[in-house]
Amino acid sequence: VLSCLLKTTTSPATSAYSGAWMPASSVLYELRHLGVRALIRYDAEATGRASADFGNVSDAQPPPAAVLYPSCPEDIASLLRASCTHTSPFPVSARGCGHSTRGQASAPRGVVVDMLSLGCHASGSATRLSVSVDGRYVDAGGEQLWVDVLRAALAHGLTPRTWTDYLHLTVGGTLSNAGISGQAFRHGPQISNVQELDVITGLGEIVTCSKEKHADLFDAVLGGLGQFGVITRARIPLIQAPARARWVRLFYTGAAPLTGDQERLIGVDLGTAVSGLMDYVEGSVVLADQGQVGSWRSSFFSEADAARIAALAEEAGGVLYCLEGALYYGGAALAGESDVDKRLEVLLRELRYARGFAFVQDVSYAGFLDRVRDGELKLRAAGLWDVPHPWLNLFLPRSRVLDFAAGVFHGILRRDGGTGPMGPVLVYPMNRDRWDGNTSAVFPEEEEVFYTVGILRSAVSEGDLGRLEEQNEEILRFCEEAGIPCVQYLPYYAGQAGWEKKHFGPAKWARFVERKRKYDPKAILSRGQRIFTSPL
Ligand code: FAD
Repeated sequence: VLSCLLKTTTSPATSAYSGAWMPASSVLYELRHLGVRALIRYDAEATGRASADFGNVSDAQPPPAAVLYPSCPEDIASLLRASCTHTSPFPVSARGCGHSTRGQASAPRGVVVDMLSLGCHASGSATRLSVSVDGRYVDAGGEQLWVDVLRAALAHGLTPRTWTDYLHLTVGGTLSNAGISGQAFRHGPQISNVQELDVITGLGEIVTCSKEKHADLFDAVLGGLGQFGVITRARIPLIQAPARARWVRLFYTGAAPLTGDQERLIGVDLGTAVSGLMDYVEGSVVLADQGQVGSWRSSFFSEADAARIAALAEEAGGVLYCLEGALYYGGAALAGESDVDKRLEVLLRELRYARGFAFVQDVSYAGFLDRVRDGELKLRAAGLWDVPHPWLNLFLPRSRVLDFAAGVFHGILRRDGGTGPMGPVLVYPMNRDRWDGNTSAVFPEEEEVFYTVGILRSAVSEGDLGRLEEQNEEILRFCEEAGIPCVQYLPYYAGQAGWEKKHFGPAKWARFVERKRKYDPKAILSRGQRIFTSPL
């Protein structure tokens, strides 16, 4: 075990992480004397698993020296106190499901905290996921999966308001970014829908915070990329749950009619007949040759319809657009089936999709929210889930979305007849006023509406990864040269200069650094994000 740890200290890739940091052998010594009930593993199987993630892109960061499997939040606090009171502190990162794409949840030569272990402990998940019917909230451990939060709330006829597309992500993991999906236009991201948090700061202090109490820490942690504390509990408000959803997909042959309709639906122009009629609004770009990895998010069409859609895509020059929406109905507080039929009738009449290309399914509310799971299981069965994922997610202001579409969807992604199977490409708008500028999340603030574009690619064949990564670079260069002020969502920068200049900008960077100095001055937390590499 020791020789494995020492090997990590001498790796040439570790140079950026040396200096004042504790050697791995001392990490081992510290952990042996922590005096916690938690299981600690140092073996290559555990550390290898803790440094791997969904991105599956080889990463120059050294692996962690150990993995801590906490039995309670106090174990995490002890670990953080041991690190920050030591003359040479060691990195500590919370790891949810490791759905990051560039090693963000790893802790180079430090300790990864396997958050899921909190929920597995004997005194376990019942106490770490509890619904208050009278208070209309759920208290969820930071390690809980959103799909379990949904199940617990639905058992009382209740639900959180706003989601991610995929529910098998942890509460702490999505709240460290933002947590967005097609409900965000109305309710904001998940970070706008939290009442209270329990956080363990980089100083090892356990703090309960909210907008009323320790508001600065609360705001810092939301969208904070794991930099200010480990979220061990979040209080999420609940509303009456609908029973069912009419799930709609409409095809468009151009970006302008798609985005025009999306903006009418999210209420940019409140005078229109369709604003507010949908409860969920997203959209995607359908490239003619996307194949199975391109359509994994759900199966929706019969083979005959899929062939008609492919023919329409060819006719439109290889690029189609799809508006995806949902109308909720049923359940205690919501209108019934006749009302949803009327809303749908108005939508199908007023929206400007290609006539004959409207598709509707009727599904349970829970089935709708967990729709991506189905695609995951299919890709797993085909051996296409654990492949490299060089994803690129961006936010850009509404006024530039058509320039982006022309340059990227019709240009870079279509060059040389397209890129072959790659993955879904999402594009949908959100209302800026549902986002809180005091949180750590970075989003375009110049206009009332901004778009998210998610280019969610899979590298399936040899050579795909390098080519797709080069294309991501090209997309970022294109935005820079065209003056499109985009910022990355689920951001990745190789070093501090990128974070400071490209991501945060001077004012937000200054605030981020000030908060870091306050809550994690030794820069122990979430070093895998590569934001801070030495104590402040
Ligand atoms: P991890 O990858 O384990 O960690 C991510 C970061 O958060 C790390 O820096 C880690 O240290 C930190 N962290 C983890 N847990 C905690 C905690 N309890 N306290 C403090 N910091 C913590 N995002 C969306 O917004 N919308 C989507 O629709 C969406 N769909 C996705 C679909 C798939 C298939 C995948 C793989 C990802 C998707 N994401 C989406 C991205 C996802 O929200 C982020 O990757 C999120 O971080 C994943 O949570 P995790 O638990 O796996 O985090």
